[in-house]
Amino acid sequence: MLSADGGAVGFNGVALGRSQVYGAVAEAVCVQSTRHRCPSTWCDCGFYCFHDADQARALACDEQYDRSVLLEILASGRYVSYELGLRYQRQTVRSVRIGRCRCGRTSAALDDVGGGIVGWRRLEPVCRECAGRRAVLSLETFGALSGVPVRVDHGTGHAPMAPLAPLDEADRADLEPHESAVPDLSPDAEIPLLTAEVTLLQARLDELQRRLGRLTDRP
Ligand SMILES: [Zn+2]
Ligand SMILES: [Zn+2]
Repeated sequence: MLSADGGAVGFNGVALGRSQVYGAVAEAVCVQSTRHRCPSTWCDCGFYCFHDADQARALACDEQYDRSVLLEILASGRYVSYELGLRYQRQTVRSVRIGRCRCGRTSAALDDVGGGIVGWRRLEPVCRECAGRRAVLSLETFGALSGVPVRVDHGTGHAPMAPLAPLDEADRADLEPHESAVPDLSPDAEIPLLTAEVTLLQARLDELQRRLGRLTDRP
């Protein structure tokens, strides 16, 4: 998240935490009740982490989470264990890893995508091509404002998906229309077609010659 005045950045939770923006060092806040300490065993509040980054990447396959970034954190204070990690009181963000742009290309910056909350604009990873000439927040600026390094997450496992190789000349020739692509016609059928085409070309040539004549002032 980027503050409305552009002077600060923060992070925003994905579920209950969507109403909160927190900094690189933060205490968990319970949005259900202020009468217990966070995390409480009979509430679901607190920051959540996975012990294993691949569990976080697996969660990000769900469309509810696929626009989120991966935070490497140091958990401290009170905590409760759950099946895959910890629910805890205090965290320090150590690094931010961003995924791909919506278009699938490697991200290069952070873009204001709308859907912010009062005082904060929501940012999402964006690639150079999609960013075009629009104003975006560089990863370096986000890093400087948050005090936390930002880098592109390439995962640790297999990466079987890759861009297609560019078309070579032979493939391109196959795609271009050429004479054999036109169905063979009998001479009787072909004569009116060719005559019509010549007439069109002649009219186009006349028009071009008229325009050229006007420009060069010669008939
Ligand atoms: Zn709570
Ligand atoms: Zn893109």
